[in-house]
Amino acid sequence: MAAGARSVPGIGPLVFLGAPGAGKGTQAKELVKRYGAPQISTGDMFRDNVSRGTELGRRAKAIMEAGGLVSDDIVNGMVEERLKAADCAPGFILDGFPRTVPQAEALGAILERMGRPAPLVINLGVDYNILLRRLTGRRSCPQCGKIYNIHLQPPAREGFCDVDSTPLIHRPDDREEVIRERLAAYEAQTRPLVDYYRARGRFHEVDGSQAADAITADLFRLLDTAAPGAARV
Ligand code: AMP
Repeated sequence: MAAGARSVPGIGPLVFLGAPGAGKGTQAKELVKRYGAPQISTGDMFRDNVSRGTELGRRAKAIMEAGGLVSDDIVNGMVEERLKAADCAPGFILDGFPRTVPQAEALGAILERMGRPAPLVINLGVDYNILLRRLTGRRSCPQCGKIYNIHLQPPAREGFCDVDSTPLIHRPDDREEVIRERLAAYEAQTRPLVDYYRARGRFHEVDGSQAADAITADLFRLLDTAAPGAARV
């Protein structure tokens, strides 16, 4: 469990919905620090497989570079395996999954098989122009995963991570041509999940257009009251 995390049973399964650039990854890292539940980012898992040159990475690479979605079967299998790990027992934060209605149905079935409750779902809604600014300015540390934005949250030394001085990277799919494809995939395939989960309860909206620390404060307020195991001790 991360330093400073609460010694509580956990926050259960949590799903972060939102367009690329909405801040799911940045905010998930804040929740990890506060609640100790692991962040399960399917995008990070694919990037890790691509960099290690695995068979999974080989299959995902071209799709990711084009801004498309990896097939549901591959993603669902990868997530189910990950959720069986011991660190997921008290709860986990899903970032970037589910991204399609069939994935949401698969998640429901996986949780049922595991005897887990339905997820708490938080949608980070963000103004389109803010999304574009966040995506084009995003840089990340390949070593520790810290996320920066050259316009909004630049590192102290341009191009280098504040934590470990590693040169920052610009994700290949954060280039403008690919961003357009990713946002189109979001609109067509992921946005319908907002209605899907709204109809199933345990659904909350948080204004993702705010500054990062204001979003974090809203999330803490929400989770400290909405998730039974998450109350501060
Ligand atoms: P992300 O870091 O969440 O923006 O994901 C980067 C890329 O990985 C996406 O543009 C997709 O190509 C792929 N990916 C990540 N999660 C999923 C998912 N749940 N379903 C399909 N493709 C995914």
